[in-house]
Amino acid sequence: MPNTLHVDYDLMTHDESEKIIREAMEKARQVIPEGKVADYIPELGKADPNKLGICIYPLQGEKITMGDYQTRFTIQSISKIISLCVALEIFGAKKIFEKVEAEPSGEAFNSLVELDLNSNKPYNPLINSGALAIAGMLIEEVSFHDMLRFSRELCSDHDIELNRKVYESEMSTCSRNRAIAYLLESKNIIESDVEDALKFYTKMCSLDVTAEGLSNFANLLANDGVGNITKKRYLASDTVRILKTLMLTCGMYDGSGTYALEVGIPTKSGVGGGLMAVSDKRAGIGVFGPSLDPRGNSIAGCRLLKEISRKLRLSLFFDSTYLGASRIDYSLNQRTGEE
Ligand code: GLN
Repeated sequence: MPNTLHVDYDLMTHDESEKIIREAMEKARQVIPEGKVADYIPELGKADPNKLGICIYPLQGEKITMGDYQTRFTIQSISKIISLCVALEIFGAKKIFEKVEAEPSGEAFNSLVELDLNSNKPYNPLINSGALAIAGMLIEEVSFHDMLRFSRELCSDHDIELNRKVYESEMSTCSRNRAIAYLLESKNIIESDVEDALKFYTKMCSLDVTAEGLSNFANLLANDGVGNITKKRYLASDTVRILKTLMLTCGMYDGSGTYALEVGIPTKSGVGGGLMAVSDKRAGIGVFGPSLDPRGNSIAGCRLLKEISRKLRLSLFFDSTYLGASRIDYSLNQRTGEE
């Protein structure tokens, strides 16, 4: 059935889905002024806050694209998924989780308090401390050029380059990440060269991607690591399972719980304004909107995903099984009045 968004209980046409997404874009645009672009990395402060774009790539049917879906922006923290994915494939889960936990941190993405006070391991690989630990492991096995090649392949985007301006801008203002990296060295979590690990991490954050490229990667994750068109397996099923689980529990930092309730799609954000969302077995989604909420997540992007998650029933926790049942017997609501 071409031309449909693959939601197996739903025969919504491409045009109907597009209409829903267009309306959601309009609603999302309204919240742009409530956020602001990241400026702690000076070069990111130059972004146009009014940009907004989305690309939805269903497992069946055609891509739906809107707005600034081809604009390049830096991947920032979404690169933590690429690094973790390569690390899982190289080292295996056991080795990774000896260095890093898999728990939501409840703190900001660049926090170091919980690392020093509560635990000797970073809380998870999707916050800065965890990703710096992973970078420390990766630099002993792969070069940045290998990572660039993997990133291009995973995103099916051969034009991804290192954005040197953003990289240099972040390297000149990264005292906090440097502090985290040295703290990790003091705890023997980083055992390689700390400055090299920091450079590698920052370079990965400075890859120039598009919402469309992120939707290609997300589509691969929604399809268990198998290419939708090539039918080639790029990633082990277990790697993909771990990535999606962590995206759901930790992908939106200390906003992950509310986001799971409101959107219910495993997602990773970056302070460049990107969101990569994996609607499992349904679609990969990439969003770009650089105006951020106080937690560093795209404010309009989250709003957009909330709208379409409901209307297109993309949440992991929507179930089609009983969709046809016209009336539900809410027996829990029926009180007998007896003591
Ligand atoms: N490069 C950024 C940093 O380390 C990434 C943070 C983010 O996207 N949340 O601060």
